[in-house]
Amino acid sequence: MTDIHNLLLIDHNPAHAEAFQEALLNAQNGPFRGHWVQTLTQGMERLREKTIWAIFANLCLPDSHGLDTIDKLMQVAPGVPILVIGGVEDEDLSTEALRRGAKDYLLEGHIDTYSFDRAIRNMGERKTVERVMFIEEDRASVTLGSIGDAVISTDILGNVTYLNSGAEKMTGWTCEDARGKPFCEIFHIIDGATRTLSQNPMELAIETNGTVGLPADCVLIRRDGSESPIEDSAAPIHDRSGSITGAVIVFHDVSVSRAMTLEMSRLAQHDILTNLPNRLLLKDRISQAIAAARRNNTRVAVLFLDLDGFRNINASLGHAVGDYLLQSVAKRLSNCVRSSDTVSRQGGDEFVVLLSEIKQPSDAGIAARRILTAVTEAHEFDNHDVQLKSSIGLSTYPEDGQDAEILLKNADTAMYQGKKKGHNNYQFFNQDMNIRAIERQSIEADLRTALRRQEFVLHYQPKVNLQTEKITGAEALIRWVHPDRGLVSPLQFIPIAEESGLILPIGQWVLREACRQVQEWINAGLPATPVAVNASSLEFRNRTFLETLRSTLKETGLDPQFLELELTESVLMKHAESSASVLSTLKSIGVRLAVDDFGTGYSSLSYLKRFPIDSLKIDQSFVHDIATDMDDAAIVSAVITMAKSLKKFVIAEGVETKEQMTFLQMHGCDEAQDYYFSKPLIPNQFAMLLQAGMAPFASPASVSVSV
Ligand code: C2E
Ligand code: MG
Ligand code: MG
Repeated sequence: MTDIHNLLLIDHNPAHAEAFQEALLNAQNGPFRGHWVQTLTQGMERLREKTIWAIFANLCLPDSHGLDTIDKLMQVAPGVPILVIGGVEDEDLSTEALRRGAKDYLLEGHIDTYSFDRAIRNMGERKTVERVMFIEEDRASVTLGSIGDAVISTDILGNVTYLNSGAEKMTGWTCEDARGKPFCEIFHIIDGATRTLSQNPMELAIETNGTVGLPADCVLIRRDGSESPIEDSAAPIHDRSGSITGAVIVFHDVSVSRAMTLEMSRLAQHDILTNLPNRLLLKDRISQAIAAARRNNTRVAVLFLDLDGFRNINASLGHAVGDYLLQSVAKRLSNCVRSSDTVSRQGGDEFVVLLSEIKQPSDAGIAARRILTAVTEAHEFDNHDVQLKSSIGLSTYPEDGQDAEILLKNADTAMYQGKKKGHNNYQFFNQDMNIRAIERQSIEADLRTALRRQEFVLHYQPKVNLQTEKITGAEALIRWVHPDRGLVSPLQFIPIAEESGLILPIGQWVLREACRQVQEWINAGLPATPVAVNASSLEFRNRTFLETLRSTLKETGLDPQFLELELTESVLMKHAESSASVLSTLKSIGVRLAVDDFGTGYSSLSYLKRFPIDSLKIDQSFVHDIATDMDDAAIVSAVITMAKSLKKFVIAEGVETKEQMTFLQMHGCDEAQDYYFSKPLIPNQFAMLLQAGMAPFASPASVSVSV
């Protein structure tokens, strides 16, 4: 059943009420129920009590007159349509009433079924349209309220008509406060870089009748003065006929993405560990400094700093300590220079300091000395003091190069050359260095492919017992058969392999090849002979050293007693405590241990006693002059005596003459490894010697054929 609509008539004239009642009875749009009151007060009361569908109000009432009636009714019953009843003479008033919100009016004398029906029909239709519009508007407002973007619309004059909740949050204005205000009062934007006022995008959108993007780096200033970077666009609004009725702007906060972009560009130019500029940014700064120096007739200096022995620190103390030390060095360096200079980390333990304006090259020397001192001061870590040393190479503009790349390369070269002379020093670049550096670089580059191309071979140099003159073992010595250079001495490439870290795979190859070879000789029925393999500092300190050794022995099937490791004094003494533990593990595996080049480094006797070392190899530099130099003779005999008392084997290296050998035999030296007996031999020749079971000693000339 259709609902009955309550209609309220407020009119003091009973004749009007009668006509109303009659029209209502005959109405086609019903069913209606009429309610008649004579005063506004009663009308308002009725409105509070009942749901009224429409109000018919006379503008001339005993307790209210004119437009006031409309205002009051709308206040009490907003949304209920009001129909004004008035006389012909009230036409102006009725028109004004319509403007105030009344929906229609009826002439007093014409309250009849026809005009009543028409008014009711109009009102019904209007209500339906309004409901649809309300639903649409509601839906639009919910949609706009829920989107993340901020939306503001204006009329054609540029006054705000709407703000969604996003825009309310972004601008700090409520829609209510902002409505009707000029857009530029609500939406205040400036250029982030210049901080000048940006042009009003809505104005532009209306002017150009097209979509306008917000200027780049646009910053919105909120009602409270705070700022946020924003992005997006404004567009004109058209009505059905295509004319512009206003404009809408859609925008969003880009603080996060803009901060992320900034952070990403910062990361791309900085070193993560130390937060210092990286190589990329440094090169840019050097280029700028060169340009300024060219204009001002000044100089630029590039200081390339490398920490001495940092690889060992990292390997022995662990990476956490290594990282901490690098950060500590970064701070010290930054404190040593002016804010206009740049300290950068190149990676690893390499830093570069750019002195952007110096008067003469010696100024850079002063800075280098200051930096060396700062780095040398103890670095405290976990209540331990760690001492670091460094080497610095210097190049200056315009003397040593015209661009960033060359200055950096030359400072690096100078650093490398300086390092050879001793640690904790600085060295200026000179052109001669380039030739040596190029040579070194080319060796390093070729070393990288040498393993893959199988360019390494091992030669074996016999060790001979000085009493029995029998072969007691051999030292495996690496040789590089370079495709262009021919045979390259290990003295030339091992230091480069150590610096570049390539010694690790090379060392693994040497170990495997030596073990494999000796096992092959044993399998072939030759007298079993221990082979000595040199292990460099980097290998010995490497965490995987013991593991590699175990697996190599297992794979090749070699009994550990046939393997000897030669380690130099400096390798063992540098970190004596940790050396002791690695050595005892090695001993428990069953390999033999020798101290190589004994006498050239600093040995602590107490450690020598504690280390489970089997033999000492006296360095050839002492042996060389034993027959002529009293001091060397005294040293060698003392070493032999000491070794005996420590119950170690003594091997002399580098015996070349009969006199030297006689001296060693007389002083009780156990063994010798030297050219006098045999130069290092290719495997086949060494096998032949073993086969014959002879000491080459008897006829040195016949066997010194290898190298
Ligand atoms: P080293 O371990 O002290 O080896 C002894 C060096 O002295 C060898 O030189 C050997 O040929 C040389 N030598 C032996 N007897 C005499 C002599 O009577 N007179 C003279 N003048 N020299 C003699 P080599 O083979 O050139 O090796 C030099 C250094 O290179 C070795 O010194 C060792 O430190 C290193 N090295 C060689 N092979 C390897 C390797 O496989 N791994 C590592 N890490 N280092 C190696
Ligand atoms: Mg050796
Ligand atoms: Mg040696």
